[in-house]
Amino acid sequence: ELMTLPDSASRKDFIVENGKSYASSFIEEKLKEHLRSYNSDTCENGEESFFVADMGEVYRQFLRWRRHLGKVQPFYAVKCNPDKEVLRLLALLGTGFDCSSRGEIEQVLSIGLDPSRIIFANPCKPPSHLRYARRKGVGKLTFDSADELYKIKKIFADAELVLRIVTEDSSSVCPFSHKFGAPLKSTRRLLEIARELELNVVGVSFHVGSGATDPQVFVQAVQDSRAVFNQALDLGFSPNLLDIGGGFSGESFDAMSQILSEALNTYFSGDIQLIAEPGRYFVSSAFILASNIIARRDVVNEGGHKDYMLYMSDGVYGSFMDCLLSHWRREPRILTSACDKSSSAAINYSIWGPTCDGVDRIIENASFHTLLDIGDWLYFQDMGAYTICLSTSFNGFTCDRRICYVSSEPAASAMLTY
Ligand code: PLP
Repeated sequence: ELMTLPDSASRKDFIVENGKSYASSFIEEKLKEHLRSYNSDTCENGEESFFVADMGEVYRQFLRWRRHLGKVQPFYAVKCNPDKEVLRLLALLGTGFDCSSRGEIEQVLSIGLDPSRIIFANPCKPPSHLRYARRKGVGKLTFDSADELYKIKKIFADAELVLRIVTEDSSSVCPFSHKFGAPLKSTRRLLEIARELELNVVGVSFHVGSGATDPQVFVQAVQDSRAVFNQALDLGFSPNLLDIGGGFSGESFDAMSQILSEALNTYFSGDIQLIAEPGRYFVSSAFILASNIIARRDVVNEGGHKDYMLYMSDGVYGSFMDCLLSHWRREPRILTSACDKSSSAAINYSIWGPTCDGVDRIIENASFHTLLDIGDWLYFQDMGAYTICLSTSFNGFTCDRRICYVSSEPAASAMLTY
């Protein structure tokens, strides 16, 4: 059961006259406030990047989900950002959790969650993690191969199994179908094996790829899931769970969810539990990263003017790994600059991370009417998904980032007592 919450907040409520959203000026103020609270000249490691995390934005995304896709219970994909405050807020709001390993299950259980609110949604699980799931009573598991079924038979024979099917996810930013998902031509055979092994198949799942762009992929996947449901029914199972995976993004959610809802109504009208595994959708816009310019080089361009290379305190081996893996572009904005007058001509920059590796480039081209210099701070929005969890300490740079939690939404502050 989802908690009853007032449907008051929406992004719309946060627009102010100059076209800038209240939430973003609120965040800018919080970033500056945080920066003032430690003096980078005297503080050791004072140039290290830090996050401001707006729990109000996570809360608004939750309300938006409920408005547009209320029939589907979200199981937040912990892998996307296992931040403890995000987990705490979502747990209070009543979501479930998609965990992919023992570590993630441990983390979710440690906030006091009932194991029935977890799905262990990794189709290829290490045996010891599977044993741990059995010990803790985390009984909903995904699978997509015969070998996983044999493993489950040995270790956790009374689990509730969800068959993950393949999707046509080539239009997504991060496709998964080359690694996971049973092809449709194999699903009947897999269900027969599950039957022979006396295992309990309770449903079907899919994932359309992270950063999915084509709503028709969802429609096709729902239709395919129906066909697999029918196969399962045919073989004497009683499937009652459809898991529509993740892949939702804040930008396309409203349109995407409408098409998806229609498909769900068409193919799954009965008494079926509908769940999803959104990650990026909940957290991407909630985290803003501030990063310091630690070095600068000038380069004379073809027109004889100077361009600049900026070296930041964070890079692709830190919070920007997703830029390297998925070519996701991040827009830099100026947080503070010592330069007090703007230049009439735009100044071009390329923006790099701090390590000695040549691939450590965050942005190839950016321009500002400000001459940026060492010590200035930039910030980047939409940094909540696949950032903190992918950071490394390559070259000896720390991967621990300070996170300043705020809330632009009174209801969320009240729940978390900020
Ligand atoms: N579910 C599974 C099984 C995944 O592998 C992923 C991402 O890797 C997700 C959900 C979350 O996807 P997204 O962050 O695109 O919503």
